[in-house]
Amino acid sequence: MQIPSDIADLALIRQYLHAHPELGLKEFRTADFLSNLLSDLGLEVTGGIGTTGIVASLRRGKGDRAIGMRADMDGLPISESTQKSYTSRHENRMHACGHDGHMAMLLGAAHALANDPGFKGTVHFIFQPAEENAGGAKLMIDDGLFERFPCDMVFALHNFPGMEVGKFAIRDGCIAASIDGATITVKGKGGHGAQPEKTVDPIVIGAQIVLAFQTVVSRNLGPFDPAVVTVGAFHSGSASNIIPERATLEMSLRATTPEDRQLMIHRLVELATAIARGFGGSVEFEWQAGYPVTINASKAVDVAQHAARQAGQEGIGALDSHNLEWLDNPCMGSEDFSFMLEQVPGALMFIGNGESPPLHSPEYDFDDAVMLFGVQYFTNLARIIFDD
Ligand SMILES: [Zn+2]
Ligand SMILES: [Zn+2]
Repeated sequence: MQIPSDIADLALIRQYLHAHPELGLKEFRTADFLSNLLSDLGLEVTGGIGTTGIVASLRRGKGDRAIGMRADMDGLPISESTQKSYTSRHENRMHACGHDGHMAMLLGAAHALANDPGFKGTVHFIFQPAEENAGGAKLMIDDGLFERFPCDMVFALHNFPGMEVGKFAIRDGCIAASIDGATITVKGKGGHGAQPEKTVDPIVIGAQIVLAFQTVVSRNLGPFDPAVVTVGAFHSGSASNIIPERATLEMSLRATTPEDRQLMIHRLVELATAIARGFGGSVEFEWQAGYPVTINASKAVDVAQHAARQAGQEGIGALDSHNLEWLDNPCMGSEDFSFMLEQVPGALMFIGNGESPPLHSPEYDFDDAVMLFGVQYFTNLARIIFDD
């Protein structure tokens, strides 16, 4: 298979990727498939970066400036329930977040720029593994991504169900929240349900902790600072007349500034520790590696908004400047592209996927009509930056 010159035919590539999803850090076939297509374009392809990551470099002209454009490669452990001809061929594996579309759009842009003899500049097309769970962006960075492929700016797109096809949305500064998760083990002292005075009840302690956590957002952060603390699981006990030894809480927190993130982590630990101690018990936190706040840089947002407006005009002229929405609020979901934005200024842009089922749903599907706009967006970015 080759990357088709007609952008509409990119749908075939997207659908092939859709039919063969792979989970995070296992994108071996996907990486091979992409590498072959990118090599055929004459790009210099380096694989195996941070496990299955790929960088395909297009170098034209003498300038030393370079930009990165990133797509994520992983699917999710979901069994697809769409009835499409290209539905996932694999049980419990699905491109339910549209990363198939992200890859196809970046391939389309690589094709367009590689086949444009007038284009001068260096673009690193970054295909990263494991956006959903393992922080593939960080793995690539730890494997020397930006030392080996220095970039002045980096850009990424994520599709956005519920926003019209042909529309883009962005925000200067925080566009997506951080995410951190912890398992909290509350240790008490078990005993007979009729003799609570001889026990330390971890359920009572856990319940106090859950309630106290709700005050971190309402009492420690300013009223205009969005943040979320969710205790999504609380496990303890086995019978109504036994006071158990321990309780386990699963918690996630989301913040929209790095300072709030640190403050929240500090407060949650402080509260849980003090509450448990006050009741004669103790707590242990086991943190899961999180994703930072995704912060768009103003200079990259400026380029990105021009590229998006132009993409709208080229795609369907009627939309013109109304095809870009400035988001009032950040998205409270998270993105591991944030790791790249900690290293290099850049921007994450949302692209409308129309009235589709939500991301991570077994009914979700990437709309192939989006592709035209995404390819235009990426190619416009490169042209705007290097035509300066
Ligand atoms: Zn996702
Ligand atoms: Zn995603």
